[in-house]
Parts: sequence; structure tokens; C-alpha cells
Amino acid sequence: PVVTRFAPSPTGYLHIGGARTALFNWLYARGRGGKFLLRIEDTDRARSTPEATEAILQGLEWLGLDWDGTPVSQFEGRARHAEVAREMLANGSAYKCFSTAEEIESFREKAKAEGRSTLFLSPWRDADPASLPDAPHVIRLKAPRTGETVVHDAVQGAVTFRNDQLDDMVLLRSDGTPTYMLAVVVDDHDMGVTHVIRGDDHLTNAARQIQIYQAMGWEIPVFAHIPLIHGEDGKKLSKRHGAVGLHEFAAMGYPAAAMRNYLARLGWSHGDDELFDDAQAREWFDLAGIGKAPARLDFKKLEHVSGWYIARMDDAELMAEIAAYRTATGAAQLDDAQSARLAAVLPALKAKAKTLPALLEQAHFALISRPVAVEEKAAAALDTVSRGILKELTAAVQHASWGRDALEAAAKAIAESHGLGLGKVAAPIRAALAGRSSTPSVFDMMMALGRDETLARLQDQAG
Ligand code: GLU
Repeated sequence: PVVTRFAPSPTGYLHIGGARTALFNWLYARGRGGKFLLRIEDTDRARSTPEATEAILQGLEWLGLDWDGTPVSQFEGRARHAEVAREMLANGSAYKCFSTAEEIESFREKAKAEGRSTLFLSPWRDADPASLPDAPHVIRLKAPRTGETVVHDAVQGAVTFRNDQLDDMVLLRSDGTPTYMLAVVVDDHDMGVTHVIRGDDHLTNAARQIQIYQAMGWEIPVFAHIPLIHGEDGKKLSKRHGAVGLHEFAAMGYPAAAMRNYLARLGWSHGDDELFDDAQAREWFDLAGIGKAPARLDFKKLEHVSGWYIARMDDAELMAEIAAYRTATGAAQLDDAQSARLAAVLPALKAKAKTLPALLEQAHFALISRPVAVEEKAAAALDTVSRGILKELTAAVQHASWGRDALEAAAKAIAESHGLGLGKVAAPIRAALAGRSSTPSVFDMMMALGRDETLARLQDQAG
């Protein structure tokens, strides 16, 4: 069975690249009936914060990526990591190194001055274990000195590292804490991870990690190192490019479902398919479709995907996306009346909006309550004649059955009796119902607001 994991370091918000890594792991596991695990790599005590962990979990939740079991804390596993380091000592694949930091530094300086490799080779590597000092030491891997270590990567192909260019990495520091390299391997092994999908900035680490797997005789997982995301200018994505935190995309009002689709395509492809739903993504996603070249973040494309999702989502899905959007921006949730009106007008609005705020902007009339504040531009439509028209309309529809056809017929009749076009009659209705001059169709608004609210708003402005 497939087991993947997402292993963020909790030192900040969830970066868009991290979100994509999580998504790839999630899609790969979910498409194969596997497990998707979460490991918080919180061993860097100075930089890790609970707030960052919380922000990352919230980001994953917003994106709709559910994980199996409880998130694992890497820091909590330090005793186990140390135990494995001791096992490696026992099986001869690691050794105690008593070289001090100063000694290593002066070795490097000398090597540099003499034009030799500065790769530190510990004099303790082959020391007699029976005659070791009782002094502070680190535990180092007794890495192979000849030959090569090959990362057979599902994306990058076979990537070869010469062993004489990899030093004997530290596994356990002199204070007994494990190094990152050891912790990752032990955790991935213990968690039963079968596929490691992560950014290609970890490719060199993979070679070192493979050496630890080999030293322990553990099965090496499938590695897939994905190219990092670039900005539109082809340079590595950074703050300079604008939004890089997933929360920023949430706050811009891209639906999470659209974000999943867009991020899935960012570095992975399935033929010419650009737009697809979750079920298709799960079915199609594979490592072979991941590209070797860095993908570029393209806001135009994202808008397009976003608009496509908004247009085709059903009302319940859209309402849930809107609630998540409001949470992301810190806006209050809609009350029942607002939700009912909004839900009623969604079908009329969703085909045109590219983002959730654009949709909500169109639905402004549904979210406000009386008295409706009338903007200056709209107020011009409320002259004496127009107010009279609102009064007539109120009287005409008050007792008629509440339906679109009847409302349209009433408005048309009034327009004709005044010798006016329907647009001239619609303007004061817009002003009365929305306080604005640019709104959805007045009949869509009336239907969404319902009889009582419509009549009350019309009467507020009627002469
Ligand atoms: N904690 C690492 C990071 O945030 C990921 C390590 C891994 O996936 O193996 O970059």
C-alpha cells in the first residue's frame, strides 16, 4: 500500500510550493487507496513555532487536503532517532568522532591552503573501539569512500553522486540530539513511507539519506523530487512576485477547489487536460506526468481556472467556498437571511465571476440590510418621477403572485404607461434595492430578496 507524507518545517506560513508538494502527495495516496501522513519537522527549536504549525494545518484544511492519523512531531521522536544512531554504532556503520570544531576548522583551512579537498575525513573513523576516550563526541556515518550513490528518482532519473565527495555526515550531535538527516530517514522508515515526493532542493539530501537506509538495511522509498515553482519572469518564486503564501491566495478569493486544480497542473500534466475535478485528478495523477522543468505561476491561468470552478460549482459548494473565503479574510460569516438571498441569486451570477469577491461584489444587494445606503451615482435615478414609478410598482406587485413573469409584466406595463423604456424604470429599482447603479438584473434581485424585503426597499424610496 502507498504511504506518502508531507513534512513541513513549522517556521512560517504555508508557502504555495509547500502546498503543491502536499497536494501531489495527497493526490498520489488518495488515488491509490493509500495513506497521506503529516510530519511536522520541528527539530529546529529556535525557528519552530506552534503558530506556524497551526497556520500550516489551517492551510491544508482550507485547501481540502485531509491527512491520516495525527500529525507526527519530529522533535518528539528524538529518543528513537538517538536509538537508531546507537544501532548504527553497534552494526559498525557509524562511529564516534571526537574531533572538536576547532580541529575540523583548522583541518579545512590547511586543506584549502594546500589546495586539497576540504571534505573532512575524521581520524576516528577507523579507531579501535576499545581504546576510545571518555569525552564529548558526535556519531558519524561510516559512509562508503569509493563508488557512487545513485538516487533513482521518479522525476529526475538516475542522479549519481561520487561517494568520495560526500563526507561522513553527523547523525547524532555531541549533545545527543539527532541531525535532520537522521531524523528524516528514521521517521520515513518508521512511518512506513513508500513514496517521498518533495521539492528538488532536497535532491542532494536524498543521496545522503540513501546512505543511511543502506547502513540500516532498510528499504529505500521511491523518491520524486519536483522542480520548484518559478514566477512569471522565470526566476525562483519569492515575495517579489507578490503572493507566495497559500493564505494570500485564499484571501484573494480563489476557491480552494480551483486552487487544487491549478496547483495540480503546476508542474504536472495529463495530456492537454487543464480543467478537471478532484475525482479525475486523483485518477490521473502519477509521477510520470511530473515535468523536469520548473513550472511558472501564472495568475491569468489561475483566474481562468477559478472562473471555471465558480461557474460549475453547485450552490452548496459555492456557499462553502464563500464561508471559507470569509474566514480567510477575517470577515463575519453571513447570517441566515443573507445566505438565503445569496444562494437564491448565485445561479444568475456565477457564470460571470472569476473570483469569490467578484461574485460577492455582484451580490452586494443580497448582503446589505435596510435602510439601503444609496450611492451618489444611483441617487440620481431617484427623482420625483422615478419615486412615483416605485410607488406604482409597489402597488402593482403587492397583491400579485410573486414570480418573475408577473414582476416583469408589471414593470413593462408601468414603463409603457409612462412612455419609457424598461431601462428607465429599472434604474430607480436598482437604486432602491441595491443603492447602486450597477447590479444584477432587477428581477434576479427581486426574486432573491423575496416579496417582503423587496416591497420594503421599494417603499423606502417610493414617493
Ligand atoms: N522539512 C523539509 C522542508 O520543509 C521537508 C523535508 C522532506 O520532505 O523530506 O523543506
